[in-house]
Amino acid sequence: MVESDVVRFAEAFNLLATTFKLWGTARDKEQTRHAYFKALKPYPIEAVERAAQQLVASHPAQKFPLPVDWLAKIPRELGVHAPSTLRILTDREAHEQREAFAVRCEGDPCSCRACTEAAVSTYPLRYVPESDVPVWDPFRRERTLPGHWIHGAALARWYAARNEFFQKAPPSIRSTVVDADDDPLRGAPDAA
Ligand SMILES: [Zn+2]
Repeated sequence: MVESDVVRFAEAFNLLATTFKLWGTARDKEQTRHAYFKALKPYPIEAVERAAQQLVASHPAQKFPLPVDWLAKIPRELGVHAPSTLRILTDREAHEQREAFAVRCEGDPCSCRACTEAAVSTYPLRYVPESDVPVWDPFRRERTLPGHWIHGAALARWYAARNEFFQKAPPSIRSTVVDADDDPLRGAPDAA
């Protein structure tokens, strides 16, 4: 989990607190929740939520589950820690990358000033790696490369480079990589 999962975690925790009658003041419960969050933090929020559901279905009634009970419902291999040598993407960067991958790194055309001046405002934006030094994605819990959406001259250069690649590629590669609706040779702009 990451810090922004704390709201989803609180919902899962409250589900258990209601089901198993966790006693104590609001302050006590908050402290307990905080301690449980720490104990379960190495695991993805989705797995933590699923495990809470399983506890509701299987744990002895009237006995609030210990962290170890909750952990026992989560597959071990999901507890992957970031290697200490890697920079961890911020929540914002990781969200942006997740959204970019969901649309296969191709965004809507952009009419910002840079894109307009570089004559690429009718072309899909592209999400590209910004370095070849791996970083850690705290959501998917795996290595990735940091990336960003490019605009303007950088976007024009990207299309020009792709155009050049496909012009040099043998026809066999072009026909396997390019489908008819997405021919990069069709009207790609020159580099700015
Ligand atoms: Zn733009």
